[in-house]
Amino acid sequence: MTGEPDLLQFLKPFPIDLQKIYPRSFCSVNGLTYGLIRTSQDKKLVVVGKKRPVLADPFKGSCHHQKSTIKVCDLSAENTECLMALFPYTKPVSLRKHPITIGTGDRLGVATPGHIRAVQRFPARPVLAQQSVRENRQTGRSFKEVVQDAAWAVFQENYQGGYGADGDHLKSPEEVKNALDAGVSMVTLDLSEKLDLEAFRTPKGVIDRKYKEEIDEGDSRVLLHLFLGKEFLFKIPHGGMSILFDEESVKRNALFFHKAIDFTEEAYEFIRKRSGNQALIDFEISIDETPFPTPPKSHLFFIIVLNHRGVRIDSLAPRFIGEFQKGVDYRGDLKDFQDQLYQHVLIAQDYGNYKISIHSGSDKFSVFPHLGKLAKGGLHLKTAGTSWLEAMRLIALLNPSLYREMHRFALSIFKEAAKLYHVTTDLNRIPNLEKLRDQELPAFLDQDDSRQLLHITYGYLLNAKAGNGKNLFRERFYQTLTQYEEDYWSLLERHIGKHLDSLGLPGK
Ligand SMILES: [Zn+2]
Repeated sequence: MTGEPDLLQFLKPFPIDLQKIYPRSFCSVNGLTYGLIRTSQDKKLVVVGKKRPVLADPFKGSCHHQKSTIKVCDLSAENTECLMALFPYTKPVSLRKHPITIGTGDRLGVATPGHIRAVQRFPARPVLAQQSVRENRQTGRSFKEVVQDAAWAVFQENYQGGYGADGDHLKSPEEVKNALDAGVSMVTLDLSEKLDLEAFRTPKGVIDRKYKEEIDEGDSRVLLHLFLGKEFLFKIPHGGMSILFDEESVKRNALFFHKAIDFTEEAYEFIRKRSGNQALIDFEISIDETPFPTPPKSHLFFIIVLNHRGVRIDSLAPRFIGEFQKGVDYRGDLKDFQDQLYQHVLIAQDYGNYKISIHSGSDKFSVFPHLGKLAKGGLHLKTAGTSWLEAMRLIALLNPSLYREMHRFALSIFKEAAKLYHVTTDLNRIPNLEKLRDQELPAFLDQDDSRQLLHITYGYLLNAKAGNGKNLFRERFYQTLTQYEEDYWSLLERHIGKHLDSLGLPGK
């Protein structure tokens, strides 16, 4: 049973208000047929077969009996557990063994089928669920819901390649615990609040004093032993790269990292204990949200100390030279970027063979070819907001009056939103909305300033309230996305596909 007409025929006898079927999801297990449909009340799972086995099946739902029996089930938390048990490929897994991975982070909970359709054409694996605590706050979702939505989308698309779920930018042990409780397969630890940013700016005299105060003697002996008088050599095609530490640079790096390293070790031990087998959880470290680029030398310092403490990581997100602003292309010197990236890659290969992770990775089309070439042995590319922008493109294409309202609102709260992000948006460069015809609206999604405007205001737009306390846009926004979901998925397939294509990955 694969064709859509057959499925419609098959479901016809039952008194369900069928609006749509998702043919790829339909499959038979132990004599029962499972699949996803849409009714006027949302997406549902149906279980069809002989009366007894349908009743005995663990999914919870309401049954209708004809010649055969159908059970119509909500995509609830309880039913998600049944889904993962019966179809193990719907459960997030470690993607450690796959060299190229892409985080597609479905903020809205409706984008994943498009992400899957894009990624499965390439030799890459997707991290379909990928939310930070901040994003969840803006969208009003929890880690658990994020993972559930991804699981059902995987079932809908019958995607059996394996996917990851990332608790992104976690900053405390509680956040790590919450993400693990929700079933993530990846933890991204954000060290930005644990780094001592003064360590590279303070005069040497102060460094000596602080070092004595903050680093205990045993640790200091280990550090000096690990770094002083050693040359760290990396082979490159034409010559080598060499890194040396003097006492001052050991002290500065030690002060910069010591709280971050303790925190990393603590989180690592916690994850290991929790999962019983650490191999189940991919462990990423992010230091990308610092005010200055990560020197390769500091990366080396950090990883050598972690290795010494027995901490194993799967990916590291340094902050790169130049600007990785949200939703627009890379800004900066490409040659410098390439050189630094290469040094980070060499260190990662030699000290644990982990991936280099690129955050705010969407739409960086000028750097993708270099990334693909230099980091082909291990690369994780995180995107998120770009799928929200594709949703706004869909709104601009298919619900122009809603688009206009949202655009006006975004302009009105831009100043407020810009406090949270580093962007160089110039509102004066954005064409005047009132002067454009409907068919010109999608062009806003091709212009950097309006892209950033819509990118950083997403939380405000989703949560905007009218005077009566009702949401201004949320319901109409989701309704349009749902009504035209196939169009949305096509936009995403094209856009995320363009990312993977630019990395130089061979498409299928
Ligand atoms: Zn980041």
